[in-house]
Amino acid sequence: MSLLQDLLHKARVKSPRIFHINSGSCNGCDIELITCLSPRYDVEQLGIHLEASPRHADILCITGPVTRNTLEAVMNAYAQVCEPKAVVAIGSCGATCNVFAGSPSVVGPLNKYIPVDVYVPGCPPHPDAIIDGIFQAAQILADRGVREEAKGQPQK
Ligand code: SF4
Repeated sequence: MSLLQDLLHKARVKSPRIFHINSGSCNGCDIELITCLSPRYDVEQLGIHLEASPRHADILCITGPVTRNTLEAVMNAYAQVCEPKAVVAIGSCGATCNVFAGSPSVVGPLNKYIPVDVYVPGCPPHPDAIIDGIFQAAQILADRGVREEAKGQPQK
């Protein structure tokens, strides 16, 4: 691994940049995610930064079951995150649609449309579980980056 690759790997593991999108959640999971930014949890001190644009993020954090109205926004946000990227589904809705399953306005679960790297179960999950899920995704992202960069290396 070159010095630059080593630095990139460390930065991806230790300072994940996240973008949050609500795909039709009841807001319960969103409140828990925002709680992670509050002084009590203060995830910025752990290196996690919430970005205002998916173009500036490495990890997409998605709450909710995916509704007809939000599907396009989810797909657009996913497309805008640069490779390598990772996806975290926060809350049980992203995995199973949870209490919204069967609704005519719900088209999830999330993995019908995009690959999900980490599921954080719970309705809603505790902030500690969300932070843990983001760091799991950061490790997956960093390892993915190493593999993709190795593929781009000229063969000796
Ligand atoms: S998992 Fe529970 S708290 Fe989270 S969006 Fe779904 S219903 Fe709301």
